[in-house]
Amino acid sequence: MNNSCIFCKIANGEIPTDFVYQTSKVVVFKDINPQAPVHLLVVPKAHIETLNDLNDGNLSAELIDAIKEATKKLGIKEYRTVINTGKSAGQEVFHLHIHIMAGREFSWPAG
Ligand code: 5GP
Ligand code: ZN
Repeated sequence: MNNSCIFCKIANGEIPTDFVYQTSKVVVFKDINPQAPVHLLVVPKAHIETLNDLNDGNLSAELIDAIKEATKKLGIKEYRTVINTGKSAGQEVFHLHIHIMAGREFSWPAG
């Protein structure tokens, strides 16, 4: 828990938040500034700054499983997932998170 980290506060219950899905190690909640009709964030409760700092294979699996469980719960079969790693890649919150976006068309290649 990092007291200056907004996702630590959300994931550990200091900021009341509705979780779409949660386990003992992972939470899923709505992005505050959605880029699609559905925009969720999959977040580990532990403060891990970036994907480069994730060294726990069980947690890696739990994060991927949370994508599957949250989308299944919402009946979403088609979606975009994004992990921004580092400033130049667009990361603004330095607590690891996976974006899940759905409900519109997405272009590819990404800009
Ligand atoms: P990044 O650019 O780091 O990949 O994504 C950070 C995401 O977190 C952004 O999509 C932003 O809208 C979202 N976000 C930032 N602060 C908050 C917050 O306090 N609550 C929620 N639910 N989402 C947040
Ligand atoms: Zn954190």
